[in-house]
Amino acid sequence: MQPRSAEERRAELVELYREAQACARCPLSKTRTNVVFGSGNADADLMFVGEAPGMHEDQQALPFVGRAGQLLTKLLEEIGMARDQVFIANVLQSRPPGNRDPEPDEIDACKPFLHRKIELIEPRVVCTLGNFSTKLLTRSQRGITSVHGRPQVHELGGRLLRVYPLFHPAAALRSTKTLEELRADFARLPALLEEPPPVPVGAVAPVTAAVAAQPAEPAPSTLFD
Ligand code: URA
Repeated sequence: MQPRSAEERRAELVELYREAQACARCPLSKTRTNVVFGSGNADADLMFVGEAPGMHEDQQALPFVGRAGQLLTKLLEEIGMARDQVFIANVLQSRPPGNRDPEPDEIDACKPFLHRKIELIEPRVVCTLGNFSTKLLTRSQRGITSVHGRPQVHELGGRLLRVYPLFHPAAALRSTKTLEELRADFARLPALLEEPPPVPVGAVAPVTAAVAAQPAEPAPSTLFD
């Protein structure tokens, strides 16, 4: 595929946004107030993927604007980054009533939008927040407690990139230990963003000190939805 300029990719993201506004692929379209498409830099190196909009997000049509979102903003600031540098999205674009967990058929209906966002934004690193986005984007049933803080290479949106699983900020609001682990995982993000892009298996990659110090990355998946 021909490489597209950031401007072309942004224009396609706007098209996708319009498509999402009219989406009725799952019953949540009947109960939501607003579609929460995601927000931020359309050409971001770093993307965050949460679970689903809550009440505040549903009302404001923006992701992570409640208490969990305030913590996400604070953790970003602690590593010298601003929210408008990154792109923030969710597995689901519509709020599940009463903030219940997303259903498998809702995730299936919404995931083409998420994959297309990743394809168009072309991030270097995707941080998955909590179990739902981690299991979806790592294509594994391994839970966040065992995989957080360990970058994995996956093919997403037609490119190899690093998925970096993190605890969900809402979980960190409930537990000081989880907050400290989340903060420690965040502290490794700047170095991860500096890593050279992952190379396909079989190609020869230069070994930098930071790469050598990292836990082994599982082989990239060749499957893509
Ligand atoms: N929790 C999420 O997973 N996403 C949001 O947008 C807000 C809270």
